[in-house]
Amino acid sequence: MAVIPVAIAGAPYEVRIEAGLLSNAGEHCRPFLRKDRVAIVTDANVAAHWQETVTASFASAGVQSEWLVLPAGESTKSWEHLARVVDWLLLQEVERKDNIVAFGGGVIGDLTGFAASMVKRGCGFIQIPTTLLAQVDSSVGGKTAINTPAGKNLVGAFHQPSLVLADPSALDTLPLRDTRAGYAEVIKYGLIDDAPFFEWCEANGAKLLAGDSSARAAAIAQSVSAKARIVAADEKETAGVRALLNLGHTFGHALEAETGFSDRLLHGEGVALGMVLAARFSARLGLMSGQDAQRIVAHMEAVGLPASLRSLGLECSGRRLADHMLHDKKMDAGTLPFLLMRGIGKTFLAKDVDLDEVASFLDKELRG
Ligand code: NAD
Repeated sequence: MAVIPVAIAGAPYEVRIEAGLLSNAGEHCRPFLRKDRVAIVTDANVAAHWQETVTASFASAGVQSEWLVLPAGESTKSWEHLARVVDWLLLQEVERKDNIVAFGGGVIGDLTGFAASMVKRGCGFIQIPTTLLAQVDSSVGGKTAINTPAGKNLVGAFHQPSLVLADPSALDTLPLRDTRAGYAEVIKYGLIDDAPFFEWCEANGAKLLAGDSSARAAAIAQSVSAKARIVAADEKETAGVRALLNLGHTFGHALEAETGFSDRLLHGEGVALGMVLAARFSARLGLMSGQDAQRIVAHMEAVGLPASLRSLGLECSGRRLADHMLHDKKMDAGTLPFLLMRGIGKTFLAKDVDLDEVASFLDKELRG
């Protein structure tokens, strides 16, 4: 089993990674539970595949599990479901020192983590992520949130989990499209500051997506180590270090907004295309070589992730996409920090990007 420490000051925890961990979840969680009952929040898809396994695992550790099964999908990250989770946790008589369990993808992790941050002014929670995206990214680092009519993830809290259990075998039941979308976040760690890991992705990405368990476990461990290092250095995104994790997200969120945060473009697909656009824009500004940008495009294409804006078939202008960026939650006193690249593994935060130039670049990309 790989064990990766997340050294958050005052709230350190471990990420444990091992195939088959879901069958031993009860044993791993037991030392974190003060009672012989645990409240678990999940969604209907995850429950259909894994509720039985996890219930049995807690039972064999002497813990009775109580389940709240929510509808699957991004729309569950809402005020309505937040209230439902909070009310249910209160009904379960969860106390501040208890740990509840978020069992699912990024939607369940973000929603349940946010609910935990407010129940009894903050109870503990354990993340058991079941999508690749959640295993390599959202379950680690303590960002929790819901979406509101004003935008995605605009209401939330920093609330760190007490433990994260990532079982690569959980991905056996995950649809390929979701696995691929999560893989975009794996590539991201290579592009941020680890060129050898990007090379590893080029060599192993297809194998991972085909279900190779050692490639999955290696990618999760490498990604979690990178994320742990970054969030330990800048837990609340105040020092400009954690912001690096947003590579591809400014372009990606604009595309997600234009496609209505729908199945037309999953979050990870938006990030993949966003990273391509960040690379191509960096090349246009003369910061990065065209060859490096092309290498990124080639890898996205090789693994079946979106790599061209034109192929999305949007009927809007570059200006409209740039305008979506103005509603980005990373706006800082009227300027939008942008993540650009000086090469593969050389991402940096640029604060002086001209949105008119972004709009004209996007116009060109939309036409192909
Ligand atoms: P998700 O939670 O909606 O899961 C994707 C789909 O897979 C859902 O239909 C779900 O029911 C299903 N599913 C989950 N696990 C499964 C399994 N093992 N087998 C079969 N089906 C399964 O989406 P996601 O991609 O995991 O997460 C996206 C969310 O994560 C977004 O809301 C995004 O904002 C958030 N996010 C948060 C952070 C953070 O740091 N908190 C980082 C990145 C993304």
